[in-house]
Amino acid sequence: MGRIVIIGPPGAGKGTQAKLLSALAGVPHISTGDMLREAIAAGTKLGQQAQKLMDRGQLVPDDVMIGIVDQRLQAPDATGGFILDGFPRTVAQAEALDKMLARRGVPLTVALRFVVPEEDLVVRLTGRRVCRSCGAMFHVLDGGPARAGRCDRCGGALYQRADDEESTIRHRMEVFEKQTAPLREYYERAGILREVDGFGTRDEVFARVKAAAA
Ligand code: AMP
Repeated sequence: MGRIVIIGPPGAGKGTQAKLLSALAGVPHISTGDMLREAIAAGTKLGQQAQKLMDRGQLVPDDVMIGIVDQRLQAPDATGGFILDGFPRTVAQAEALDKMLARRGVPLTVALRFVVPEEDLVVRLTGRRVCRSCGAMFHVLDGGPARAGRCDRCGGALYQRADDEESTIRHRMEVFEKQTAPLREYYERAGILREVDGFGTRDEVFARVKAAAA
């Protein structure tokens, strides 16, 4: 299915859809947010550096992120394609990604951009709960998990991301508008932009994602 990046505001459903697409296409789902959260949980230097910025809803510096992604894309599982979720988030990151891929002679195939109205994003993020063990996501409005506070899939404990608190969400939206929104034009110019309406159920959106990524 190729080399795909998913861009869109926080809460647009990037992670959920990236997981589904990754399972369907048999290529890895590479989420820079998940990688940073793992680094925080493991207490690494990167984790310590990233945590303060993430909790405030700010971006981790470009050079740090570019280094992480460059290394991750060299892993054998990424040679047949990948779904990048949460990267690039700035034009500098997008340019660096293009250079990395050009060196390997394998350009991006599609940039999927999720479009969701801001009011919906806040509702989605404040109600989001994530499994600490397997990363599955639940939403209080979808009825939540069968057993309160526990993951339906693996029984792990559910938590609310520190940056899913309303004031931080507003700040993340501003950061998105300022730093990430220009990627729309960047990928439009490259001729690989495909827009996906992110409104609706998980399956409705996935049907659109499959059509756009094909
Ligand atoms: P996410 O899980 O994609 O919503 O990312 C959560 C947080 O991780 C963001 O608000 C940033 O602080 C940080 N982060 C993730 N990906 C990047 C990136 N590509 N560039 C800078 N910061 C990032």
